[in-house]
Parts: sequence; C-alpha cells; structure tokens
Amino acid sequence: MRTALWWLLFLILVAAGYLYGREYVRRHPQDFPWTELRLGDPVGLFTVRKLAALGDQPAQCRALLAQAGVGDLPAPPKSSGADCGYADGMRLGDEGRTVAFVPAGLVTSCPVAATLVLFERDVLQPAARRHFGRRAAIIDHSGSYSCRRLYGRLEGEFSEHATADALDIIGFRLTDGTQVSVVRDWRSSGPEGRFLREVRDGSCRLFATVLSPDYNAAHADHLHLDQAERGRIGGGLCR
Ligand SMILES: [Zn+2]
Repeated sequence: MRTALWWLLFLILVAAGYLYGREYVRRHPQDFPWTELRLGDPVGLFTVRKLAALGDQPAQCRALLAQAGVGDLPAPPKSSGADCGYADGMRLGDEGRTVAFVPAGLVTSCPVAATLVLFERDVLQPAARRHFGRRAAIIDHSGSYSCRRLYGRLEGEFSEHATADALDIIGFRLTDGTQVSVVRDWRSSGPEGRFLREVRDGSCRLFATVLSPDYNAAHADHLHLDQAERGRIGGGLCR
C-alpha cells in the first residue's frame, strides 16, 4: 500500500514537472532551439542562431517581415560570379520602420533585414532613450552589398558583404538632429560614446558577427554587423 502511494506521488511530481516545463517553453520560446522564430518575441538565447538560419528559409523570412509590417519589399536577385550576389534581398522600407536608413534604398539579405527589426526595437531605441532621452531617427550607413573579399584583398575569403549579409553603420541621428558618429565619438566618455558602445554590445545578441573600432583599425569608422550563417556558436565574433 505504501509503495503504491509513493508511486502515485512520484507520478504526480513527474506530471507537474512536465506541465510546468511545457508552460515555461510556451512563455519563453526564444530560449529554446526547437521553437519557431517570431519577431514579436523578446530576444533570447537562441534568437541569433534562428535569425542566421533564415538564410536557408527565404519564404519564412519574408513572411516574418510581412508580419512585422515594416514595409520591406523583395529586391530583384543579383548575381556576379560564383562568390557574389543574393537571391533573398529586401529593400528596406521607410514607412513601417522606426528609423530611416540613409542613403535610402538600402538592400540587405532577408536575415539582416529581419535582424534590423529587432535591432531597432531592442537595442537602438532603448539605448537612444537611455543616453539622450529621445528616439533615433536615422541610421547613417555605408552599404550592405559589395562584391569584395575580406579587407578588400585580392585573395582569400569573400566578405559577408558579397552576399548582402552585412551592414556597415557609420553613425546615427536622433529626432532632434543630434548626430553621433562612430569615428568621432567611439572613445568619448560622454553620452555619445556610451550610446555607441551600448549599441555595439546589444548588437552582439542579435548578429552573428559584430566588429567595432575596438576590433582593429579597419573598423575605426564603422560598426560592421553581419549575419553569417556560421552563427555565433562556432565562429562568430563580437568585438
Ligand atoms: Zn562591413
């Protein structure tokens, strides 16, 4: 009889544990590898890997962007030799996003476009509010797609820019016109420098690779954000 009671107690505990676990996963899908990515969820442990994996799921990636209502539109495919081009380019919208990208007409790979939705919401705007008490209005960039090898060398691996899987940001402008420049303000101890470094740190939770002026002289004037499919685990960088 007593053994039966112990078994009953044991089974109740197992069932309770199972239900609790299921509910926990339902409430924190971003922290588990097998759940589907939704751009409305908070950023979690597996968000960056799922964003990078969108490179193999162009239809799903476009559906996520359409759902987010940011106004991005598919761009015509581009191809240039074996190593350059993209099939899943998105022209970033200027209506539904919280910032304008300048120059306008920016095309990135779909995973980068999707990551930028989270970047604006969870990294850029909170940092702008914290350090300046207002929103960011403009991201000044120096482009995404560029058929080139790492550091513009003549040989060696192609850059993530060769597939539009990267974006170089040179600065930001706030709603009151305040300009923050990576090359000028990175080492400043004022709000501009703290803002830029916080944006860099936050980007590391979203992009496979983030390179800032802390990395090397080639990045003294911009933040390089890319969504290389190798993902952070097993090769990405955050410097
Ligand atoms: Zn770059």
